[in-house]
Amino acid sequence: MAAPEATKPQSDGRDWLALEKHYYQGTFSRQPVTFVRGEGTRVWDANGREYLDFVAGIAVNILGHCHPAVVNAICDQAKQLIHVSNLYVNTRQVELAELLYHKSGGMRAFFSNSGAEAVEGAIKLARKFGRVHRNGAYEIISMHRSFHGRTLATTAATGQAKYQETWMPLPDGFKQVHFNDLDELKAATSEKTVGVLIEPVQGEGGIYPADKDYMQGLRQWCDEQTLVLIADEVQAGMGRTGKFFSWEHYDIQPDIVTMAKGLAGGVPIGAMLAAPRADLFGPGDHGTTFGGNPLASAAGVATVQTIDAEQLTENAARVGGYVKEQLQALHAKYTPLITGVRGIGLMNAIDLNADLVPDILKRALEHGLLLGSAGNNILRLIPPLILRPAEVDEGIQMLDTVLAEVSAHA
Ligand code: PLP
Repeated sequence: MAAPEATKPQSDGRDWLALEKHYYQGTFSRQPVTFVRGEGTRVWDANGREYLDFVAGIAVNILGHCHPAVVNAICDQAKQLIHVSNLYVNTRQVELAELLYHKSGGMRAFFSNSGAEAVEGAIKLARKFGRVHRNGAYEIISMHRSFHGRTLATTAATGQAKYQETWMPLPDGFKQVHFNDLDELKAATSEKTVGVLIEPVQGEGGIYPADKDYMQGLRQWCDEQTLVLIADEVQAGMGRTGKFFSWEHYDIQPDIVTMAKGLAGGVPIGAMLAAPRADLFGPGDHGTTFGGNPLASAAGVATVQTIDAEQLTENAARVGGYVKEQLQALHAKYTPLITGVRGIGLMNAIDLNADLVPDILKRALEHGLLLGSAGNNILRLIPPLILRPAEVDEGIQMLDTVLAEVSAHA
């Protein structure tokens, strides 16, 4: 194979951007930067340059980077027992399940390695529910604009054509309706339907919280029709919206909950929780080699305990409110470039009047700010839950500078 095409060697003498193109599949359209270290809300690139992180590994680094509680848990656990098969009981896994049981109001856990796997587990559990309680019904109704993962079944559940088109035919048994439209959902329900899969706050689709009436109506409909209600909390869970689970804003209790991303503070893990009504898996129904192994579970226990000890859910609500105020001020200043802002807790979005996201992300990076996106005209701000008001000011100032530059070029 030809030698990598050179871009620019970094301070350690290696041209990581060129090497990445040579050795890694072209799956991601990555920003031209290489990160080598992180601490709190900051990361540093291979040249030693510092960045303020409002992406947090796409809602993963909820405690910031390298939080001592997670680092110590990983180091201690690594010296004790890194992995043991799910054929045996592992104390750390039980501890994490116990914490989530109490957080969720009595749901039992199954652990996986990722969000997509957690949703896959939820889909299988719903199908089991269909066999037991609904004459073999298997179809799941999900929402337009949703995102549930990249496996074939979770791609079929995802309500965005751009993620689906190339992979047809997708597995059967999924149908999408419009978010917040209960009548449409009722009309779409048939004898084949077994459940409803919803992100109470849509993340990847652009940060859209569901209406309270809608979520409560959905719960009632699922009860009346003997359907399972599945809340995908992979992005909005773990305190990000100002409640540990985003469904808590709606005074409802789902039957199945999926989690991942921030659950172990950056160590890969997923979880699928089941309320007694849906807790139907028996031996052999589902499995995983790595899911919830001692190392990942120890990081999960440390992360959940730190969320409580540092009151990060409350912080997300409080500092998130401050972010929202600052975004509203930017909206007023940069109308018509900014057409709207919206969000809940530390999950916020800025709508733009044109496809300016790639330009804004590039400029923000040059100014030392990492920003997220949802498509080409929505900016997504999903910083660590440890964020302080002074860091909000710093980030907003950088964003202000970037928006001024973009306005000047428009
Ligand atoms: N569900 C939601 C709501 C997500 O936001 C994501 C990822 O962004 C997933 C599922 C898939 O998670 P993973 O990338 O860990 O497979």
